[in-house]
Amino acid sequence: MAKYFITTPIYYVNAPPHIGHMYTAVAADVLARHYRNQGREVLFSTGVDENSQKNVEAAEKAGTPIQEYVDLMARVWKESFNDIHITYDTFVRTTSNDHKTAVQKMIEAMQAKGDIYLGDYQGYYCVGCEEFIAEKDLVEGKCAIHKTQPKVIQEKNYFFKLTKYRDALLAWYEEHPNAVRPDSARNKMLSYITDEMQDISISRQAGKWGIRFPQDESHAVYVWFDALINYLTVAGYPAENFRKMWPVDLHLIGKDIIKFHCAIWPAMLMSADLNLPNTIFAHGFFTINGEKISKSLGNAIDPRDLLKEYPLDAIRYYLLREIPFGNDGDFSVDRLKERYNSDLANGIGNLVSRTLTLVEKNCPNIVFERNSTLDISKHIENLSFDKALTEIWHEIARLDIHIDDKKPWELAKQGNKEALESVLAEVLSGIASIGTALTALLPETATKIHDLVSAQPIQKPLEPLFARKN
Ligand SMILES: [Zn+2]
Repeated sequence: MAKYFITTPIYYVNAPPHIGHMYTAVAADVLARHYRNQGREVLFSTGVDENSQKNVEAAEKAGTPIQEYVDLMARVWKESFNDIHITYDTFVRTTSNDHKTAVQKMIEAMQAKGDIYLGDYQGYYCVGCEEFIAEKDLVEGKCAIHKTQPKVIQEKNYFFKLTKYRDALLAWYEEHPNAVRPDSARNKMLSYITDEMQDISISRQAGKWGIRFPQDESHAVYVWFDALINYLTVAGYPAENFRKMWPVDLHLIGKDIIKFHCAIWPAMLMSADLNLPNTIFAHGFFTINGEKISKSLGNAIDPRDLLKEYPLDAIRYYLLREIPFGNDGDFSVDRLKERYNSDLANGIGNLVSRTLTLVEKNCPNIVFERNSTLDISKHIENLSFDKALTEIWHEIARLDIHIDDKKPWELAKQGNKEALESVLAEVLSGIASIGTALTALLPETATKIHDLVSAQPIQKPLEPLFARKN
């Protein structure tokens, strides 16, 4: 069966993860669990980007030596992802020796193609963005995102002949209409590649932090160039067996980093004669209560704080259901609570508990069919997680209506055992199907449902799946 290789971006460790990072990780986790359940060999990678100048500044601010700082923060990130049960297979750190080797090999492969040259660089650089900014994009001389004055950098840099790959990139887009999704990202990139793309500088002379450039220790590899190569590192590159998992099936990214993933990265792979990813999907951003997530506003929500109030599956449910994947959306704790009460406590929770109470009271040894009729695979594989959940919740509503119509409690009073068991068997079948359909989306709830309907005799749950919140 075909392998499946899925990645999230790797994250700067200058702050702990917030709900926006959890969003990408949960989406990747759903896909990884889904394909593992199908028996495919899955490689799901995430990790941290440690070579950034941003991290150096954060370490200085914290008064901690940089290596110690990134070690500590890498642990914080890894533990946070473990706390929210993200089933990654590899957690990459870009200060690891494996990664340094991969970066140097990749640059050597590109040098062998004649795609790297030494040139003069002069430009504005924003450390917050870790990116050069064109003069036309400055707002009153400042970075439009960070509102800080960029550094003026003038030095000798190594450059990647990105423009050499313009036609090849356009041909790749043409031949693979679904390689870059959604269409908003694809269209933006087509216009960038056609009209704006220049050769890019891939080394820095300043600073001691970062991976050394092959054969020129005085340069550090540009942090983005280094970061993209993490996807090769986790596959095992440059050892030959990296081809077992290569290429990446799906890169999940935020829409702010499409230029790196949808233009520069494919060109780097072409230069090194490596296969290109099957799909790159850029999801939207969300605001918190209508405000942009920002350090200065202090509104970044730590997923572990939410976990003190809500079960993990409630947060997964909200993230996957509320915002169609690919769109922008808003995160609000009030809305989370509303969804929790209406869809989880009163929805699935109430259906399971009312059904099992009736079964326990009237026919605990009931036999019912267990052929899963609810197939939401196509929605998951299409990253339409909201549609998958909507379909499951339609089934919940249908079963609730069926119980209300048939009134099994009256059938019990009338002593109509046959009719009673037929209603409850149908509902139990439906609940079992729902449990199976939820396996990748809400794994803990799926396990609970499975255990409840598999018990012999069937008993009502000791506590509700989701206790109502006031
Ligand atoms: Zn900036």
